[in-house]
Amino acid sequence: MMVTKNIVCPVCGASCDDIQVELEGQGLTVRNACKMGNAKFQEVVSPHRIKEPLVRVDGDLRRASWDEAIEMTARILANSERPLLFMGSETSTEAMEVGIHMAEFLGGIADSNSTVCHGPTTMGIQEAGRVGATAGQSKSRADLTVYWGSNPLESMPRHMSRYAVYPRGYWTQRGRFDRTVICVDPRRSITAENADLHIQLNPNTDYELLSALLTLLHGKRPHQTVEEVTGVSISEMERMLEMMKSCNYGAIYVGLGIASSYGKHRNAELAFNLVKELNSHTKFVIGALRGHCNVAGFNQIASYLYGFPFGLDFARGYPRYNPGEYTAVDVLRDRDVDAAFILSADLVSHFPAACSEYLAQIPVACIDIAPCPTTMISDVVLPGVIDAMECDGTFYRLDDVPIYFQPFTSSPFSFTESNVDTMNQIFKRVKRIKGK
Ligand code: SF4
Repeated sequence: MMVTKNIVCPVCGASCDDIQVELEGQGLTVRNACKMGNAKFQEVVSPHRIKEPLVRVDGDLRRASWDEAIEMTARILANSERPLLFMGSETSTEAMEVGIHMAEFLGGIADSNSTVCHGPTTMGIQEAGRVGATAGQSKSRADLTVYWGSNPLESMPRHMSRYAVYPRGYWTQRGRFDRTVICVDPRRSITAENADLHIQLNPNTDYELLSALLTLLHGKRPHQTVEEVTGVSISEMERMLEMMKSCNYGAIYVGLGIASSYGKHRNAELAFNLVKELNSHTKFVIGALRGHCNVAGFNQIASYLYGFPFGLDFARGYPRYNPGEYTAVDVLRDRDVDAAFILSADLVSHFPAACSEYLAQIPVACIDIAPCPTTMISDVVLPGVIDAMECDGTFYRLDDVPIYFQPFTSSPFSFTESNVDTMNQIFKRVKRIKGK
């Protein structure tokens, strides 16, 4: 029996790096992972795994040689005038990087999951700046944790136990007993049930609540109507603000409750401003609970390489950024691209129906590990290698810290070692077709 320790989980933004795996034949035992993580690890031995390349012929997907599938993918991209290259999150930053470079080469669009996830939060950072911290700093220091529009017990099950609430830190040696938890959520979520204070605001009133807190922080009283609008009394707001001002170190973790409710990036901007101003009273930081494993990675490398975090348009040969115009949902809904390449993401299941409908009409190539609605509409399906399990690479954790991962087994394919390898093979072929 082979036992491997310190494996990184490739599912959510927590990037837990303490997973223990025992692989014996077709059996896999996983320790330390949550249910979501365990389910993903079982994909290594799943009978559903896509094991060979598929290409569409006369309307049906049929088995093909690797070379044929790579050639067809490269032709789809090279023959397109404006392709969409979508990099999903459950793959390495290195694979995403090749995809972004390929988008630049082809004059296409490069985008990732953050376009339908924490994109607005990222835009809020561009507006206001962010006082951040690593997960380790908050684990050691935070005596107040605020979950705003997030429900980690269901979306990032080990966040509370690894980073934010239960672990003992250097200055929080009694773990949970040294920390206070506030949850701001319209729902009585399981996280709210476990919090010390639940601020149950009305849906879509985050902006009003944040404004009222800032007004109180400035020593003024918000207009009485804010109570009716938000469903939260001013005395409750004062209580919450007092807890925030009087802690030694506070950390807010925002979720899609902020990014996807009315106000979107303006909510995030205001939350970042509130945290900046709280630093006049005590140490306060803010970060996003990044849902998908390496969704932060795309933002990091796209910003580092091309100056913008998502939704990059290379049509003019240089990167342009305008969320709502060059972002994946918008270019598909507006039928503004003529082909798509999708890496490790099931867009057809998660995008609006009009986008999925259009994807079914244009040439699409994808890399995936298991059949899903996106593989069903694709013209080429390339088998994916599972990052962190079958190859090494880098993820960016929810706090934007790069985590290098190593595998516990190797790629099951003779034709590719990793998704980076596949991406490089495609890019090489695209260049050859284009004569460059
Ligand atoms: S919390 Fe996230 S990263 Fe950690 S084991 Fe669960 S799914 Fe994996």
